[in-house]
Amino acid sequence: MISTSRRAQVAAALAAAGPAGVSGEAIAADLGVSRVAVSKHVAALRALGYKIAAAPRAGYRLESAPDACIPEEVGPRLRDPLWIACEGAAEVTSTNDDAKRLARARAPEGVSVVAARQTAGRGRLGRVWESPAGGAYVSCVLRPAIAPAEAAPLSLVVAAGVARGLRAAGVDAGIKWPNDLMLDDRKLGGILLEMSAEADRVEWVVVGCGINVGAAPGPDGAFVREAVSGARVAEIAAAVLDGIAAGYREFLQDGFGPARVEVLARDTLAGRPVTVRDAAGVIVAEGVAAGVSDSGELLLDGAGGQFRVAAGEVTLRC
Ligand code: ATP
Repeated sequence: MISTSRRAQVAAALAAAGPAGVSGEAIAADLGVSRVAVSKHVAALRALGYKIAAAPRAGYRLESAPDACIPEEVGPRLRDPLWIACEGAAEVTSTNDDAKRLARARAPEGVSVVAARQTAGRGRLGRVWESPAGGAYVSCVLRPAIAPAEAAPLSLVVAAGVARGLRAAGVDAGIKWPNDLMLDDRKLGGILLEMSAEADRVEWVVVGCGINVGAAPGPDGAFVREAVSGARVAEIAAAVLDGIAAGYREFLQDGFGPARVEVLARDTLAGRPVTVRDAAGVIVAEGVAAGVSDSGELLLDGAGGQFRVAAGEVTLRC
């Protein structure tokens, strides 16, 4: 059973009771807390957007739950046994920052952090990841027993897992090397991996993923409801986390091979002329994209034949 906050447990008890409702006493007895504590949690849930009716004898009845990426809504939807806890809040600075704090404090593998909104969401190289309410922002702590060099393809493993999770939710996303989820050449989501390692072993990896669900923040962004009009944000967040878990497990068992197949099938760059730049914006390679290598590098066809690019930012050359 996934570990959740008391507030999430009260939300789950209300959801389980359905239209019949449940008394505050019954919830208090079930959770081993006081009746006053239950009413405080109900007040906090209302502040989060839960509509909860209260009647003197019938007790509490959940009328509706908010459509948001909050632990109360995402936690109960997680299916993969990797997930042991779902933390987070309606608003955080960055789910990756919270997950890193947990990782440094020795949180075990399988702890996730979710938020409905980030005030300082980040992409690669400290770039801003716009994170307005209505998106799915998730991070998690992984502790793979591998050497740092073996972690190179992890970003694509996660991208493939996220794509698979989105597919399960009805969204066919493309993958743009090395860390973007795409719809029609517009960015649907991004992935940010942060890692702590010693010379010979990875200590932790924090995986973050932001997906636009209800709307995209700018004209270059895509969002899930373009593809699935009724998609619920918490369903998308849970599908993304479960997709990451499945891809991660497969990577530990079978290496990068299965994820590579998924990446190649969803590759939005294949066959197109691209430019690769480094962090300073200097062009490091140009060629026609030809998939990814068996260790996750971008393959480019150039005048002198095929070559590999390990890192960089890719733009299409028109
Ligand atoms: P590239 O723009 O080439 O994909 P990148 O992969 O290094 O660069 P990321 O770190 O994935 O970039 O994401 C940051 C960039 O994504 C920002 O600079 C901005 O252009 C764009 N962006 C930021 N927030 C969003 C969002 N919510 N949806 C779509 N695009 C976004």
